[in-house]
Amino acid sequence: MEKLLYTGKAKQMWQTTEPDVLRVVYLDQATALNGKKKERFAGKGKAANAISSLVFQYLIKNGIETHFIKKLSDNEDLVKKCEMFPLEFVTRNVVAGHFASRYGLTEGKKLPEPVEETFYKSDQLDDPFINESASIALGVASHDELDKMWSICRRVNGLLTPLFEKAGMQLVDFKLEFGRLSNGDIVLADEFSPDNCRLWDIKTEQHMDKDVYRRKLADLTQTYDQVLVRLQKVIMEDK
Ligand code: ADP
Ligand code: UDP
Repeated sequence: MEKLLYTGKAKQMWQTTEPDVLRVVYLDQATALNGKKKERFAGKGKAANAISSLVFQYLIKNGIETHFIKKLSDNEDLVKKCEMFPLEFVTRNVVAGHFASRYGLTEGKKLPEPVEETFYKSDQLDDPFINESASIALGVASHDELDKMWSICRRVNGLLTPLFEKAGMQLVDFKLEFGRLSNGDIVLADEFSPDNCRLWDIKTEQHMDKDVYRRKLADLTQTYDQVLVRLQKVIMEDK
């Protein structure tokens, strides 16, 4: 019998009959302000899952170790069960979002080199900023583990920035999460979709990510569907 382990803001995690395998269900909902704002969007789970599955398959093909096993259906995947690091690894290529508001900058300036920020995953604490020594003090990861995860973030940025560029989108920033498999290996986990990255149309600078919901700019599902169509095209050409 399958057991529901967790219902999050965007996905459900089900324990399958295999101890090391989870079934992920992408939900038709979007949240903002750490879950305080929540709305239903038909088709959003399907679009986010399709994008994330394509991105994970592309990363795997290019040598990144991930939790992804396979896409099961429109809204479902099978993934390797991980013990998650309670950390969010944010990489920024362009000034946007909280980086702009925190430092009083206007959005849109390309950063001279990617900015790397880690946040401590805690809804109660509103995901506070955390640095390396505090991560060690809290016992959430070792120096070596943090180095390894940041090095994967850099490789992911190096692979996805040109991929999205080919698809006519600028990869402004993104958030990654990592977990430990039962054999101890650290892998990229969670998802990669416009829920956790910013994508701007290169020509029009139109937002093509969750900011369309946060800022009431356009239809969320339609926007994600456009990202999917563009990605599918470049990934097909890459084959
Ligand atoms: P949130 O927890 O932020 O509301 P989601 O709705 O996306 O986010 O829930 C998915 C949860 O599953 C996240 O807490 C994420 O850290 C966790 N997770 C992602 N991949 C795995 C995995 N392979 N094994 C175990 N947990 C995972
Ligand atoms: N992000 C995320 N989950 C979070 C916070 C941020 O996926 O809990 C992503 C967000 O979508 C963006 C990047 O991380 O791509 C940087 O987000 P920022 O710190 O600017 O915060 P935001 O303005 O998105 O709340």
